[in-house]
Amino acid sequence: MSKIITVILVVVLVVYLLRRMAGKRVEGDNPPADKAAEDMVRCHVCGVNLPRSEAILSQGRFYCCDEHRKSGS
Ligand SMILES: [Zn+2]
Repeated sequence: MSKIITVILVVVLVVYLLRRMAGKRVEGDNPPADKAAEDMVRCHVCGVNLPRSEAILSQGRFYCCDEHRKSGS
């Protein structure tokens, strides 16, 4: 009987460790350094640099905000 408990404990420990490793990998996918290395684009109106993911793309031009998108096109 104690063998079974040992096996269960080992399995639980392995699953726990794997989950921790998986969690670390997910965190590692999105470090702040990666965000800084993200493509930077320039607002067509005011020329401010901002990450591509935060920029508004309209007709092949990037804008920092909706106001500039309206005034730029
Ligand atoms: Zn702008």
